[in-house]
Amino acid sequence: MKICPVCGRSEKEVEFIGNFCKKCYLKRFEVVKFPRKLVLRVCPICGKINNKEEGSVRNVKKWLLKKMRTEEEVEWSVLELRKAKKKWFAKLSIILRVKGVRVEVIKNLVINIVKEKCDECRIKSSEYFDSIIQIRGRNKIKRRLEEEIEKCGGMIKQEHEVKKGVDVIAVNSKAVIKAINELKIRAKISKKLIGQNREGKRKYRTTFLIKL
Ligand SMILES: [Zn+2]
Ligand SMILES: [Zn+2]
Repeated sequence: MKICPVCGRSEKEVEFIGNFCKKCYLKRFEVVKFPRKLVLRVCPICGKINNKEEGSVRNVKKWLLKKMRTEEEVEWSVLELRKAKKKWFAKLSIILRVKGVRVEVIKNLVINIVKEKCDECRIKSSEYFDSIIQIRGRNKIKRRLEEEIEKCGGMIKQEHEVKKGVDVIAVNSKAVIKAINELKIRAKISKKLIGQNREGKRKYRTTFLIKL
């Protein structure tokens, strides 16, 4: 019969993992590990995390589980999350199998929050644009075109009513071209050099003239 070398309890009284009772085993061996500092980037405008996904409890849990190091098999986990300004407090309960024994581990973690605008919000709030779409004549096509541009990964920044139609200001020209092709719209395209970035790459602004 096994006797726990730490607390002296026997196999008859408590469950064992290897040569230790479950409680002493878990105290002695860290079965799950997290990095000492957890840092999560959160967009202050839309709340997206790490520039890609919604900051829901589900997604935060997914991110935490990726940060977790364990040799054991995770069976189940649940996260309770309390969000404060600069820190989020996470209580992660995990059920694992350690050498065949079912074990529950509860980790209280502090997540440091770095507020950083996601790409989408940064572009939206900046003045930057690289496409002008001049729609002339009936502008019935405008809404469908704008929707299609966004579907293609672009973004509508502004709209200006002009005498014979509307000017739509957008990023980025690749998405506009894709949308125009998708909707089979005929456009006269012209490019204008507007500058150079630090790496010497030329920057262009594209004008799409659509006459209906
Ligand atoms: Zn023990
Ligand atoms: Zn955002």
